[in-house]
Amino acid sequence: MNGSLFTPVASPFLVPFDGSFNLANCRTAPSKDAPGKSDNVAALQASVANFADLQKRLYANDRYSLLLVFQAMDAAGKDGTISAVMSGINPQGCQVMSFKAPNAEELDHDYLWRVQRALPERGRIGVWNRSHYEEVLVVRVHPKFLDGQRLPERAPLAELWPQRFESINAAEQHWARNGTVVLKFFLNVSQQEQHRRFVERIDDPSDNWKFSLNDVAESDHWDEYQAAYQDALRTTSKPWAPWYAIPADSKSYMRRTVADIIVATLSQLDLRYPEVAPDVKAAMVAARAKLVAPKAAGG
Ligand code: ATP
Ligand code: MG
Repeated sequence: MNGSLFTPVASPFLVPFDGSFNLANCRTAPSKDAPGKSDNVAALQASVANFADLQKRLYANDRYSLLLVFQAMDAAGKDGTISAVMSGINPQGCQVMSFKAPNAEELDHDYLWRVQRALPERGRIGVWNRSHYEEVLVVRVHPKFLDGQRLPERAPLAELWPQRFESINAAEQHWARNGTVVLKFFLNVSQQEQHRRFVERIDDPSDNWKFSLNDVAESDHWDEYQAAYQDALRTTSKPWAPWYAIPADSKSYMRRTVADIIVATLSQLDLRYPEVAPDVKAAMVAARAKLVAPKAAGG
């Protein structure tokens, strides 16, 4: 058993499991015949309503958890997608985690420690804005980050990244075998659109706070990031933890596509409300009769 709790949703954006993934062939914009904005907005609304219903069941059923991983270049729209897709969800049943550069305590542990601690409980949804994948993305593009990790014996880099993929695959399979539905989304923005959004952030004073010179510096490493993303997605897209590379140049299309995939995945689970045992049911019926019975005079 490979740990799969569901069948990955058939989608043009599903990253294949056979190692043939080629990022350069992936769309960053929807195709010409893809639905337009108003269709996307309506579809998103419908999916959000379905997701809300599925979340209630997930919570009541209390056996599975759902982990949604979002990775992307800056300004691809992770934050907006997370808030759009989660907009109908009861906040008590979900937790959003943003993984930044590791702090001192995190650096004192192996790199899976902080994500392991952040896994959603049964019945809950965990949303990860960045994740353990940064360890094979930003750290791969800037191997100097490894110095801070103080590994006693560091494998040569040519071995280190495959070792990390192996650990990540094993961890995710372990999570899946224990009831976590893992879905991973790479929001695939073009560099041209990214730069357009950076300029927008500079031009609009109310968006200035979103602009970071560091984002521009990272964009200069575009090709290295693309290579790292391709290798990571190619190696870690698995039936129990599939990657979807979603075109991100159109926000409305991206958001509805992500929501559709989540709903189609969760719909496959047997998320029945727990049934009450016959004796408990009988006690409930008796309690009900008492609750609706007319009060005795003077009582
Ligand atoms: P936003 O800019 O939309 O608020 P963000 O995710 O870009 O969201 P920032 O605080 O701008 O948040 O950036 C977080 C930074 O932390 C990113 O540059 C990311 O690459 C970096 N980071 C995350 N995990 C690691 C890691 N394990 N090692 C090194 N850097 C990391
Ligand atoms: Mg940022």
